[in-house]
Amino acid sequence: MSLIVHKYGGTSMGSTERITNVAKRVAKWARAGHQMVVVPSAMSGETNRLLALAKELAPSTQSEAYFRELDMLAATGEQASSALLAIALQAQGVESVSYAGWQVPIRTNSAYTKARIESIDDERVRADLEAGRVVIVTGFQGLDELGNITTLGRGGSDTSAVAVAAAMKADECLIFTDVDGVYTTDPRVVPDARRLHTVSFEEMLEMASMGSKVLQIRSVEFAGKYKVKLRVLSSFTPWDIDINIEAKSGTLITFEEDENMEQAIVSGIAFTRDETKVAVLGVPDKPGIAYQILGAVADANIEVDMIIQNISKGGLTDFSFTVNHADYAKTIDLLKNVVVPKLGAQEVVGDTKICKVSIVGIGMRSHVGVASTMFRVLSEEGINIQMISTSEIKTSVVIDEKYMELAVKALHKAFGLDQVQA
Ligand code: ADP
Ligand code: ASP
Ligand code: MG
Repeated sequence: MSLIVHKYGGTSMGSTERITNVAKRVAKWARAGHQMVVVPSAMSGETNRLLALAKELAPSTQSEAYFRELDMLAATGEQASSALLAIALQAQGVESVSYAGWQVPIRTNSAYTKARIESIDDERVRADLEAGRVVIVTGFQGLDELGNITTLGRGGSDTSAVAVAAAMKADECLIFTDVDGVYTTDPRVVPDARRLHTVSFEEMLEMASMGSKVLQIRSVEFAGKYKVKLRVLSSFTPWDIDINIEAKSGTLITFEEDENMEQAIVSGIAFTRDETKVAVLGVPDKPGIAYQILGAVADANIEVDMIIQNISKGGLTDFSFTVNHADYAKTIDLLKNVVVPKLGAQEVVGDTKICKVSIVGIGMRSHVGVASTMFRVLSEEGINIQMISTSEIKTSVVIDEKYMELAVKALHKAFGLDQVQA
């Protein structure tokens, strides 16, 4: 008997009809003799709806007390969908029980709206599994050490599922979603995108961190750390599809580079509009400015991505970096009110109309000139590059957001990702 974790995303849980479909699929797996833990997301649109209500009441609040309530609020979405799924399973004649994160408990730190899972107590869940029940555990949420409800950041149910699979040493974690696997790029934007049968863990990590929202980055990190067998597959196949076919469908995240792996130089293109650019202009160029600026930002729990410091002119320099959209207002406030007065800088400017486009592939390690091909393709399209960052297996650029789709389509074609690989 194996222990399997299924995760169903918001679209897959989007109506009572779809929840019934999920219940039938889970019942099929349970009846095939597997112990089943299921992690659902909130019904599609629900998290957005709840967060929009809060914004209506307090359009510009940024306090800790406010973020605490956001988590209290947003966590209800998954509580509702989990109970509904348990009810749907019971209606299929399958014994089932649902637990909110705090009941398991899934323990996290206290970083509201982007908490990190620290530990999971599997005793209660295991006892139910032993008693023959399907256990539903809410995605996206946990409990901090003071007993406050926390959430794990948007798309966080993926991370809940993989973390539960890791804690319970599950045989496999299946991420059911509204596409049938991981594609060379978002198939909604590039219709010619191809599904990858396998993708290496490293590439998936880069793609997720560069914005492919098919898997939340932390879920991939967990899978890597605890070697969780992870597969992304469709929840829109007929629920009664042969379980052996289903078990091999979609995209497998692999940890070894086997000979069957698609050996493209570039395996995928990720992009995101979630980033914004901020710049501190006219900073007196002295040792320690990067630390003073970024230290203050890190202390405020804001993650920084790309960083550029210009060469100084007349003893002054400009320092730019990107942060997530959600942290933009907070970052600008912090720079204006704390950092600028301390450093004697001239001005803070921001730009929310940017995007980041990244090419990812382990083949880039052994091939030179991949980044320059990217820059050539963008220049041929007349797209100006504002920032560049590279790692061994990826190159990212920041460009004006209005060119995002054009850039992604041109790069997808230029790297031959629309061609079926041998
Ligand atoms: P869920 O609600 O199931 O968690 P998400 O909307 O979070 O689903 O993620 C699935 C979506 O990710 C797809 O509908 C697709 O538009 C998008 N996506 C982005 N990049 C990729 C990619 N490389 N491969 C597949 N899907 C991708
Ligand atoms: N419901 C949460 C969100 O919309 C978590 C998730 O769907 O994974 O971000
Ligand atoms: Mg998701």
